[in-house]
Amino acid sequence: MKRLKLILGDQLNAKHSWYKARDSSTYFVMLELHQEADYVRHHIQKLLGFFAAMRAFANALETAGHQVIYLTLDDAAPEHSLTEQLERLINDYDISEFHYQAPDEYRLDKQLREWCENLNIPTTMVDTEHFLTPREAWQTYPMSRMEFFYRSLRKHYKVLLDEQGKPFGERWNFDTENRKKLPESKTIPEPLCFSKDVSDILAMIKRHQIVTIGYVDATHFIWPTTRQEARELLNFFLCHCLPEFGHYQDAMTSRGWSLYHSRLSFALNTKMLHPLDVIRRVENHWTEHQEQIDLAQVEGFIRQILGWREFVRALYWQHMPDYAQLNSLNADRNLPDFFWTGNTKMACVSHAINQSLEQAYAHHIQRLMITGNFGLLAGIHPDQMDQWYLGIYIDAIEWVEMPNTRGMSQYADGGIIASKPYAASGNYIQKMGHYCKPCHYDVKSKFGEMSCPFNSLYWHFLKRHEDSFRKNPRMSLAYKAWEKQSEEQQTAILKTADDYLHHLNDL
Ligand code: FAD
Ligand code: SF4
Repeated sequence: MKRLKLILGDQLNAKHSWYKARDSSTYFVMLELHQEADYVRHHIQKLLGFFAAMRAFANALETAGHQVIYLTLDDAAPEHSLTEQLERLINDYDISEFHYQAPDEYRLDKQLREWCENLNIPTTMVDTEHFLTPREAWQTYPMSRMEFFYRSLRKHYKVLLDEQGKPFGERWNFDTENRKKLPESKTIPEPLCFSKDVSDILAMIKRHQIVTIGYVDATHFIWPTTRQEARELLNFFLCHCLPEFGHYQDAMTSRGWSLYHSRLSFALNTKMLHPLDVIRRVENHWTEHQEQIDLAQVEGFIRQILGWREFVRALYWQHMPDYAQLNSLNADRNLPDFFWTGNTKMACVSHAINQSLEQAYAHHIQRLMITGNFGLLAGIHPDQMDQWYLGIYIDAIEWVEMPNTRGMSQYADGGIIASKPYAASGNYIQKMGHYCKPCHYDVKSKFGEMSCPFNSLYWHFLKRHEDSFRKNPRMSLAYKAWEKQSEEQQTAILKTADDYLHHLNDL
């Protein structure tokens, strides 16, 4: 009896129970697929990162004595889908059982589920043994707010709790201490970048004419593609970034591209790192360095992984497939061209997009409060926002990208994830970042040719969605501030916003 076990590109979990024993009747299969490489326009670094990490994982399995079938893009015709390739292998290797790990994307889950239903050999789907909650977490954990979900998990996994089960520092959340602007003079740690040569994979991608976005130096590829490198990145984070993580979590500056963020999302989302391993390492590191690192930094970081990451996954499985169609604000404008080029006079947007094209990375506040905020205020169709975010970031996989984009940043889910839209004027960007001084636009001006587009677009957004938000208590201050402005000023602001909306590509 021969078994075929499929490992998808984001299932690089070396600790999975599948690999505990070697077995001559089991073949592990890994496939580089056209269907995955071009279902969205990916950043070139994203494709290189996935393929390089998959190849390294396959080599490690072989070295450990497992039988691996690894097919590159060159080994199958472009039109052959995942399931067609699996069918061929089942015949060629005379396979009598098919096993796979639960895919994290609805799309792949459906494709494999439907295919398995018609397969004439037994099939088994197993857990990826990666997440800290099951797919159906929404049935058992409190989902009304991330905070309650997070607290349940803190209790369940006994994270940052004392012996009585109370949170360290007698608080669950230190968010209020974590919103500082970065001082102009503060030195930021130089990010740890790897320097691998992946030019052979780049040549293959070019040979297959896969359309990508962004730039890369393929002889110095910077992202971790092995578990060991991922752990090095974690160590670097613990020593150099964790002590200030929370303080500058929301800060923005063109002086650096990742500040005190961990850049672990790619390693986590490909499952090279396990979230609980990361959380325990952070806790232990803090225990050993309490005199240098305060609890707020540690709690702030753990909340992202134990709270947000698990929470958005639970929401995704609770609401898919309908979630992918939600457009509660009926946003219908096209994404401006500068999202693909970075060519805009808005200094903040230009920096966030150019950095994304260069590094396949932007930190959370750039994604949420710069590009996301712009899309929200301008009323860009959420499908187009989703496609952009899904393509451009090294860590973008739909289960985590979509709730963050369509939900948190675009409010297209009507408030499932966020209790109010993350809409902000230039004032917020100036408060948290260093972009405004050299910008073409004037952050202090609300209307007129040189006025910061975020200002008039913000008020236009509030005005056009008055029916949805006027009664939201968290928005009442904003509406009061609008009413305090003179009628002439309101008219001038709305006119400026209309002009900008008609010429988005010129901003
Ligand atoms: P850090 O700031 O160091 O945080 C540590 C870890 O916490 C991250 O690696 C990530 O695993 C987790 N995390 C933090 N915030 C979130 C969040 N909101 N949701 C889920 N996990 C979180 N994250 C992705 O992994 N893939 C995406 O495709 C993605 N798309 C996003 C799109 C938008 C519009 C927004 C606003 C956020 C998106 N995020 C996404 C969440 C977050 O921005 C990234 O996880 C983070 O920027 C990754 O960088 P980091 O590893 O340096 O994170
Ligand atoms: Fe961005 Fe406006 Fe500041 Fe320019 S002035 S950097 S557009 S917030």
